[in-house]
Amino acid sequence: PLVLGIETSCDETGIGIVRGRTLLANAVASSMDEHARFGGVVPEVAARAHLEALRPTIERAVADAGIRLEELDAVAVTSGPGLAGALMVGVAAAKALALSLGTPLYAVNHLVGHVGADLLQGEGLRPASGRHGAISTVGELELPTVALLVSGGHTSLLLVRDLIGDVELLGETIDDAAGEAFDKVARLLGLPYPGGPHIDRVAADGDPDAIRFPRGLTRPADLERHRYDFSFSGLKTSVARWVEKRRDAGEEVPVADVAAGFREAVADVLIGKAVAACRDLGVPRLLLGGGVVANARVRELAEQRAADEGIALRIPPLSLCTDNGAMIASLGAQLVAAGRPPSGLDFGADSTLPVTEIQA
Ligand code: ATP
Ligand code: MG
Ligand code: FE
Repeated sequence: PLVLGIETSCDETGIGIVRGRTLLANAVASSMDEHARFGGVVPEVAARAHLEALRPTIERAVADAGIRLEELDAVAVTSGPGLAGALMVGVAAAKALALSLGTPLYAVNHLVGHVGADLLQGEGLRPASGRHGAISTVGELELPTVALLVSGGHTSLLLVRDLIGDVELLGETIDDAAGEAFDKVARLLGLPYPGGPHIDRVAADGDPDAIRFPRGLTRPADLERHRYDFSFSGLKTSVARWVEKRRDAGEEVPVADVAAGFREAVADVLIGKAVAACRDLGVPRLLLGGGVVANARVRELAEQRAADEGIALRIPPLSLCTDNGAMIASLGAQLVAAGRPPSGLDFGADSTLPVTEIQA
């Protein structure tokens, strides 16, 4: 089926067009720059930006795909989770489009969409090859798989048994998302927003073992209740204290070492818990998604530990890891192909949509 996907859950206005598993277009406009001076995504600003970007982004995707809107078999849209105001803009646009075209509309889950991204094939989607040869995006996505989704808004560990039928939440962050922690620590170190790429760059020159920062929720007592959950706010506070102490003493802050130690702590916990889930559940497959997957150390550690443990690691190309409409179209196409009834026009945006609700 030919499906157009609309994604507006955060700061990316994403319009993707797929034919089944074939990617035809993936147009993305981001309002990231507008949030820079606030150090984080401002919901009202994001919603307004979606309103302005939607039409041109749809036009760009349609042109890239070389299709006419009238040919669409379905429209799919992210209905949650995400920022309520931002989601509402995409949902309203999707309803208007589907209604005017007389096309079925599918409301889908953003997080499950990140997994759906891995199904896509097409030109420009070169298989990522890791240093250890462990990363693959070619061939079938085998199920069940553990999926780790890490971005500015989410840090979730999922068990996916059936993409459109059975997705379980194993754990998630109990406070900040991993990307949010990168952004906050970057700000603390005087690095620009979004902080992730800057920390990554600076950390390359640092010693990851010079300062050992705490790994959240990894003590035996924590593991009992929070085996697959994450916590990054304690880590952030710990970095802040460490830096302030040096500043108060008039000492120079070794920014590269701080960045490297922080990055190491985040990567260690993320990959450690994901690999533990694979081991515990007897599922030797791990899929990564979300913007934090761009992190060099996260990728490296994932490759190393996956190779050590005999886990097949999949990381879609970065353009499909960050928020985009193609992943939503991909999930929508799976629902259409399976003969699922459309969502109708009665659904709304649900900022806390649970991952078990694959279609709203
Ligand atoms: P959502 O949470 O809804 O998926 P988002 O916009 O927060 O949306 P993405 O756009 O996927 O998520 O990712 C952005 C986040 O990824 C930011 O927090 C950014 O700092 C982080 N990030 C990007 N590159 C890197 C990197 N190299 N290392 C660490 N973090 C990174
Ligand atoms: Mg984003
Ligand atoms: Fe996302």
